Amino acid sequence: MKVLKIDHVGVAVKNLEAARKFYEDVLGLAVTDIEEVKEQRVRVAFIPTGDSEIELLESTDPEGPVAKFIESRGEGMQHIALRVDNIEAALAELKDNGIRLIDEVPRYGAGGAKIAFIHPKATLGTLVELCERN
Ligand code: ZN
Repeated sequence: MKVLKIDHVGVAVKNLEAARKFYEDVLGLAVTDIEEVKEQRVRVAFIPTGDSEIELLESTDPEGPVAKFIESRGEGMQHIALRVDNIEAALAELKDNGIRLIDEVPRYGAGGAKIAFIHPKATLGTLVELCERN
């Protein structure tokens, strides 16, 4: 498996509009796009920071994974996403090594990426997303 870089950091927020104010007004960054990802029950705001991004995640469903995360741990960093050159090969390698995965096959992620999550029990507590972009 080849990890190319940190693609983005996912930050769980209760309210996108309130959260973007901090990143835009205080840090001088800019939200370039907002997308709803129905499958994950989130609205995602993309904030480029040089070669990587911050993704603000707001739940669209009180039972969704981001809502559950905020309920148990509060707002804040929810996952780190590593860009890989070949996500299918990366998942096969992890599986061969007995690493517990949330997604055994890639699914659609915000921005048109192919993504898959590694189980936090296998990563010492951090939710790690693998992503591949063309
Ligand atoms: Zn992500």
